[in-house]
Amino acid sequence: MGEIRVHDKQFEPYLNASMIAGRIKEIAGKLNKDYADKKPLFIAILNGSFMFASDLFKELAIDAEICFIKLASYKGTKSTGHVLTAIGLDMDLFGRDVVIVEDIVDTGKTLSEFLPQLKHQQPASLKIVALLHKPEATVFPITIDYLGFSIPNKFVVGYGLDYDGLGRNIPEIFKLIE
Ligand code: 5GP
Repeated sequence: MGEIRVHDKQFEPYLNASMIAGRIKEIAGKLNKDYADKKPLFIAILNGSFMFASDLFKELAIDAEICFIKLASYKGTKSTGHVLTAIGLDMDLFGRDVVIVEDIVDTGKTLSEFLPQLKHQQPASLKIVALLHKPEATVFPITIDYLGFSIPNKFVVGYGLDYDGLGRNIPEIFKLIE
């Protein structure tokens, strides 16, 4: 694939389908080993992670459950700032081996706010799998237990990731041309 246009911006190929699929197989291999005798609950964060979560889940050969949630940010009072709420998290996490599935960790803000909420429910373990990480953008350091690719601090689209609503259906990952 060559360059593509999404809305008003031009993007160039960055991670192709076979690179993504190959890396997902490797991650799944590790998960299959690490959770061989467990029944983990995968919690995928919508919207961006739907494609990654689907492809990853297909590679799992263990007993595993998955649920999809959406994170919404509501404005609270001035003193509390905004409050991050998980929509659709109807599972009991107590004593469960939980694995969060995220498309991309950028500043780390989303997960740094969400993880304490999950820990509050006392899962037996809590790990993170992310397809992409932008180390240079880190503001809130997050330990990513299973990572697809470390990428530069550039805006990417495709493979579930959008630019202003569009581009999620592109099967490969493209990088903004600046
Ligand atoms: P954080 O809270 O770590 O700063 O941001 C995480 C979220 O920001 C991701 O789940 C994703 O929705 C969005 N995001 C961060 N970087 C990118 C990017 O390069 N492209 C797209 N499409 N979304 C991004």
